[in-house]
Amino acid sequence: MTSLTDRKNAAISRGVGMTTQIYADRAENAEIWDKDGNRYIDFAAGIAVVNTGHRHPKVIAAVKAQLDRFTHTCHQVVPYENYVHLAERLNALAPGDFAKKTIFVTTGAEAVENAVKIARAATGRQAIIAFGGGFHGRTFMGMALTGKVVPYKVGFGAMPADVFHAPFPIELHGVSVEQSLAALKKLFVADVDPGRVAAIILEPVQGEGGFYPAPTVFMKALREICDEHGILLIADEVQTGFARTGKLFAMEHHNIAPDLLTMAKSLAGGFPLAAVTGRAEIMDAPGPGGLGGTYGGSPIGIAAAHAVLDVIEEEQLCDRANQLGNRLKQRLAAIREKTPEIVDIRGPGFMNAVEFNDAKTNLPSADFANKVRLNALAKGLILLTCGVHGNVVRFLAPITIQDEVFAEALDILEASILEARS
Ligand code: PMP
Repeated sequence: MTSLTDRKNAAISRGVGMTTQIYADRAENAEIWDKDGNRYIDFAAGIAVVNTGHRHPKVIAAVKAQLDRFTHTCHQVVPYENYVHLAERLNALAPGDFAKKTIFVTTGAEAVENAVKIARAATGRQAIIAFGGGFHGRTFMGMALTGKVVPYKVGFGAMPADVFHAPFPIELHGVSVEQSLAALKKLFVADVDPGRVAAIILEPVQGEGGFYPAPTVFMKALREICDEHGILLIADEVQTGFARTGKLFAMEHHNIAPDLLTMAKSLAGGFPLAAVTGRAEIMDAPGPGGLGGTYGGSPIGIAAAHAVLDVIEEEQLCDRANQLGNRLKQRLAAIREKTPEIVDIRGPGFMNAVEFNDAKTNLPSADFANKVRLNALAKGLILLTCGVHGNVVRFLAPITIQDEVFAEALDILEASILEARS
């Protein structure tokens, strides 16, 4: 009989990578069961999508109620009230003490595309500055903004013009905030007139690039540079949003408001929905019909997102993220005593990561990180790696994870790291 993996290889483009061979059958909160009844603890959460857990009862109830009313009318043709209401809620919740407006789209990449379109329309400028190691999606502009060539840009030809990259400050890799800011200033001297720059985009905590938080001094400096030159600041909170970092949005850690904020993933707890929220006058720059899309703000995603926002508040998931993150970081600190390969443990709230170097060469070791991942998988814990060197294991468990399941996962994690040493 042909295995599912063989069928998948025959039917699906290899361009869609797969990190496990588990075929999901059902999932609940932080657990997934496969077709053969094997049970896994899910520390990937569909890549940061189910912060509120798989099939949160409130999210499912909201979606079921919506399914019984209508599933699609296209908001641009026959609008619906809960789309307007969700925009009102996000406008109130997003950082920034000013009038805001929102648009809904379907994916994180689309949110980034639209933020760039809006920034260009509002400023009448072209250029966009992003950072090395940043990730902003697989569409053409998202890909151009992404600061990693393999696998994201290889073979896809010319990127959209007028995209520039500066190095992201990561002390651990020898790039200080001062060096990063100096490189940005050099960009203005050598490559692009700041008067032509529409926006600077960054993730408050780099996600795919390795879970590196942007220091507050850096964020403040960027805000000042933007204000000095009339450049818009775009915070890409697609991965950091919705309580993951211990705040609803990671920008709240810095007390700095971006002009535009992109969100997706955990916004709708497992249903496709993304958004751009920003200063009202900037959001209004594109003309009617310039923004939108057939499925943008699907009634199903919108219904789910209302429930997600309720759950985050009712279950105090920001506090819970901080508690879980502290427990995880404490456990990793204890494992570090016996593991010279661990060179860093980091991350705000429950957006945590552990970074590995080779114990002999002290160079980043993707091999060690991958061993940890595979050991954990064999023991029933799904982990993800990340980082420009691939040497980081990141943790994205649902913030609703039950204490006993979390404790079990920490034991598996410890065993998997220690086993990778032998
Ligand atoms: N921006 C960031 C910061 C992301 O982490 C991602 C997805 N990993 C994206 C954009 C793209 O989102 P999507 O895959 O939904 O297009």
